[in-house]
Formats: sequence, structure tokens, C-alpha cells
Amino acid sequence: MHTQQQWQALKQELAIEGRAFINGQYQSANDGTTFATINPANDEVLAQIARCQGIDADRAVEVARARFDQGVWSQMAPSQRKVLMLRLADLVEEHIDTLALLETLDSGKPIRHSASTDIPGAAQALRWYAEAVDKTYGEVAPTERDVVATITHEAIGVVAAIVPWNFPLWLACWKLGPALAAGNSVILKPSENTPLSALYLGQLAHQAGIPAGVFQVLPGYGHEVGEALARHPDVDCITFTGSTRVARQLMVCAGESNLKRVWNEAGGKNANIVFADHPNLEGAAEEAAAGCFYNQGEVCVAATRLLVHESIHDRFVAMVEAAAQRFTPRDPLDPESAMGALIDQEHKAKVLDYVKQGVAAGANLRCGGDHPGPGAFVAPVILTGVDNAMAVAREEIFGPVLCVIPFSSEAEAVAIANDSPYGLGAALWTSDLNRAHRVARQLRAGSVWINNYNEGDMTVPFGGYKQSGNGRDKSLHAIEKFMEIKTTWLRLESY
Ligand code: NAD
Repeated sequence: MHTQQQWQALKQELAIEGRAFINGQYQSANDGTTFATINPANDEVLAQIARCQGIDADRAVEVARARFDQGVWSQMAPSQRKVLMLRLADLVEEHIDTLALLETLDSGKPIRHSASTDIPGAAQALRWYAEAVDKTYGEVAPTERDVVATITHEAIGVVAAIVPWNFPLWLACWKLGPALAAGNSVILKPSENTPLSALYLGQLAHQAGIPAGVFQVLPGYGHEVGEALARHPDVDCITFTGSTRVARQLMVCAGESNLKRVWNEAGGKNANIVFADHPNLEGAAEEAAAGCFYNQGEVCVAATRLLVHESIHDRFVAMVEAAAQRFTPRDPLDPESAMGALIDQEHKAKVLDYVKQGVAAGANLRCGGDHPGPGAFVAPVILTGVDNAMAVAREEIFGPVLCVIPFSSEAEAVAIANDSPYGLGAALWTSDLNRAHRVARQLRAGSVWINNYNEGDMTVPFGGYKQSGNGRDKSLHAIEKFMEIKTTWLRLESY
């Protein structure tokens, strides 16, 4: 890992690309307009970015469709697609310093996380799907003797991936990996807050030999280019990660256009339940803090509702407060930093407003809040005495705010955990094997962690129940989202 000075020196040498990547080339938006992307750690403008609109989306979709129909990627042997995608994964790793730096400057997240988790995670996702693509088979149906019915999977066509700013490249690759491996043409729409790593990936894909127009990157502002893609009659599938609010709009766009598939990974308000019988409360407290404060709390699956048995409540909260100190914000380019800046000043104001609201509703502010200095920094907040009916317990704050809710029985803990419009993740800590299984089965969430928070790798599906979304990212299940299922009947001559 480089020192803070070395990262700053690398920053001076960066040549940042802000143009869209269409048909294998960097290009300005059709009307030449741009918007600024800002470093939230010091509010400096990093670069001007092409502000793509519907006309740019039309251009990119036309190229994506033509490449799909020509079969330059969709009909390429899976073993060959694999080679090119593995090359891309290798290139991501070779460019790890540049990509990690772009990610940290653009998002405010600590460089040690970008360099050790986000960018390696992106490469790993590409590699995992590359390796899977020539190892998946079709089926033969158990029909009567004189027919043969095969069930095969085919690429769906043009896929638009619309992604958020909290793990810009990593989450993008959870989508690009299976969508490209399946043979689709993919258009990536990064968040207006964090377009830099996605744009850089365009050039790497070109260098890896992925044919022009198979992978394109369209930056845009707010809803502009994303909505154009979601309404486009020639886009076959939207894969989205972001807020539940936008997820709803995308489903409307699909319904009002061509019924394209819409796969949503949306918000969360996740419960982390600590029972009094857990033998290592210190360890559970460390993970409760990390589960909530990692990535400035800007994590869909952050452990934001901490449900603690009343018999250990005060002792446990003191341990979590001590563990939270490790997340005092620092310059994201300092390799020791475990917490950087929030995404922007507007978001910081929103987070601090939620804290105020919580206190006004009767919660106690145990620690944290505004952190001085230029940049959008907030120190880890712990609110105790939270009632699950309060807005701070029901709405996604998406910042470093931990809401502590006491409970007195297992049934009450399960009821509180499930009393949420979201159902992304949930965790419980106990030494009782029966309770572990009993509670895990009752939790309405896509991922349940027992005696850990947030274990995960590419082998398992990730996604939510209820308003946290549909479909799943990661694992082989994700490939099916980007494929059509075809049944083919062959009648044999009677014999
Ligand atoms: P967002 O919904 O505001 O934006 C996500 C993306 O959609 C961005 O690229 C944005 O430009 C685009 N967009 C905005 N309005 C649009 C519209 N009307 N039509 C089409 N596209 C539009 O989300 P965000 O603020 O970037 O990210 C934070 C959210 O992402 C949180 O709610 C978080 O829970 C969620 N998230 C979910 C997961 C998951 O896997 N479930 C993972 C990470 C983040």
C-alpha cells in the first residue's frame, strides 16, 4: 500500500477521461454539454463529464443492437468470451492503483478500501463469470419417446446497467460479469456522482479485445440518460442498483414501453439482533460498528438497526461506542483512514437532518455528528432509545447512523426486525443452535448472517425481499437474469 504522499503524487499524474465510451471510442455528448464531478473530501472539481441525453442513448443502443445481431459477441464461442473477459479482469488488476484512486477521489471512500476491496472485487466478479460461462449447460426435458425437447439459454439482447455511487465499479461488475458472459451487449450508466472508474473501464475493455459496441459507458445527470434507456424500445433488460424510489420508476418505464425485464437491487434497513447468550459480545460489538459504519454507512446492507436484548443493553452499547471510534473520519487518501467523506454536502445535510429528527422524536444522541473541515465528513452517530416506528428506524438514511432498539424476547426481536418495508439483510448473534435456525428462518431478508455480519463472496446470491428489490446479483443465479429460456421441440420419425 502506498503512503498518503505517494497517493497524492499519483493524483497529480492522473489524466482523467470524462467523455462517454460509445462504439469503442471516447466521445462527447451529442450537444457537447458537461457536468462536474466533485471530490467530496475537499469539494474540488475533479473533471467535466459528458452529459448524455436521450439522443446519446439512441446512438449507443443502435450500436449495441447491431453488434448483438451481427453476433460478434453473442455468437462467439463461450470459451473465447471467457478468454477476453479474463483479460479484462487482469487489466483491472494491473490498473488497480489508477482505478482505486479514481474511485476514492470520486466517492470519498478510504483508499485502503478501494485498493483492497472495491477494485479487486470488481476484477474477481469479472473473472468468476468468465470462468462460469463455458461450464453451464442446457437441459433435455423428460418427454415421451418420439420427441426431443431441449431447454437452452440465449442472450437476451441489449442490457442497460444503471448503478449507484457507493461501490461504483464493484457493483457495476456484479452486473457486467453475468450480462457480458451470457453474450449480451451492455450499456453501463454510472452515477453522476461517480462516473470516473466506469469510464476508465471502457478503455480497458477495448484493450482486452471486447469488440467495439459490446460494452459502452454512458454517463449522464440524474434521471436523464437512465430514463431514456429504461424507456427505449430496443433495450431488452435493465439491471439496476440504487434507491427504491428510482426502482419503482424503472418498472413504470418498462411497463409503458416494451415490458423489458427490470432487475432491481434497492434499499435496505437491516436488523442486527444481539441475544444475551452470545459468548463473545466484544466481537459482536466490533462487527456491529463495522456493519453500520463501513463505507461511511453508505451501504445498502448496512446494519443500521441494532436490536439488543435489554439485559445486556447498556454494556453492549458502550462496547459499540468504543468500537465506533475506529471510524473517526480522516482524509480518504490516508491509508490509515477507515472512514472517509460522504458522497456530497447535500447528502451530509440530509444525514444530519435525520439525526436531528431522531432526537426530536425522543432518541438519545450517544455520540457523533458533524465533523469539521472542508469536505462532507460525518462522525459515526449512535442513537439509543429508538422506537421502530420512528423515521430514523424506518427510512434509509444511507449514512453513518446506528439506531439502537432494545427488545425483551425472541419473538419481539423477530417482529421488530420484520417490521420494515425492506428485506435485504439481517443478522443474529447467539450460541443457541436451535434459536439460530429458528430465528434465521423467520427473518424476511435475502441474506441472513449468524454470528457474523456481511460474509459474502461471488458464490452466493445477493438481493432483497419486499421493497429491497427482485432478482439476485452474484452466483450462477445472476446469469439466468440476462438470458432467455428457449424450448425446442423435435419430432422424430416413429420407430
Ligand atoms: P439512485 O436511485 O438515486 O441512483 C441510482 C442510479 O440511477 C444512478 O446512476 C442515477 O443516476 C440513476 N437514476 C436516477 N434517477 C433515475 C431515473 N428516474 N431513471 C433512471 N435512472 C435514474 O441511488 P443512489 O443515491 O445512487 O444510491 C444509493 C441507493 O442505492 C440506496 O438506496 C442504496 O440502498 C441502494 N443500493 C442498493 C444495493 C443493493 O444491492 N440492494 C447496493 C448498493 C446501493
